[in-house]
Amino acid sequence: MRLTLALAAFAAALGSLPASAAGVDKLYVLYCGEASATDQSRWSPGVNVGVPIELSDNCYLIHHAQGWFLWDTGLADAVAATPEGVSGANGALRLKRTKTLAAQLDALGVKPGDIKGMAISHTHPDHIGNVELLPQTMLYVQKAEYEWPGEGGAPRFKPEHPVTKLDGDHDVFGDGSVVIVSTPGHTPGHQSLFVKLAKTGPLVLSGDLYHYPAERTLKDFRPFAGRGDDAKEASSKAKVEALLRDKGAALWIQHDLEADAKLKKSPAYYD
Ligand SMILES: [Zn+2]
Repeated sequence: MRLTLALAAFAAALGSLPASAAGVDKLYVLYCGEASATDQSRWSPGVNVGVPIELSDNCYLIHHAQGWFLWDTGLADAVAATPEGVSGANGALRLKRTKTLAAQLDALGVKPGDIKGMAISHTHPDHIGNVELLPQTMLYVQKAEYEWPGEGGAPRFKPEHPVTKLDGDHDVFGDGSVVIVSTPGHTPGHQSLFVKLAKTGPLVLSGDLYHYPAERTLKDFRPFAGRGDDAKEASSKAKVEALLRDKGAALWIQHDLEADAKLKKSPAYYD
């Protein structure tokens, strides 16, 4: 035990931790924007027609023994320059950002260059807005999402951005504490994130696999009906529900405003 501690102190003194260093010790919930829509049935055809809805839009900064990792980047920081927000999804949504991601990282004393890895759930504008705030950070993305043509056939990412293209699940640090879970459907390469925290316990960050809790119980509730791949989305949901059961994990729905209101926000953190 004493030898182990001495070795750990030695490694820390060298300023580098062994590649085998394991475990997540902090997860910060960062505000990455908000959205409002006048008609909830956009996500639930025939259900709650004409009922307005407000959505949260979070990012998550994870501190692992091997370094920092960012999950999702939210709306572009530039949106913060327009306090009343901008119109999205052909006018169906109002998107707003009152605080930048850059300012929240700065408040934690974390520089973009300190963040070694990042992943985005998918390439919709409320999730990829700030990828280029971290131009040196290794981006983990499904090959299917990376190669999915954007508007006018344009690439979704800058070709010079360091990238690891995935084809399925990926254990980021090799110790099972941060695992990218492939959940296609909403978009071709949509992914969710499993995180294991010592005190809080295991959890899954949904991406847009779900937008609000009712989707888990109402079977014909298809939030992106016709705009994604419903069959793939259904099997991705079954996969995540099985994972939640197997691991005894909690599901954190990133756009769920009611759940969001109860979360501790950065600089407070979950451990
Ligand atoms: Zn979204």
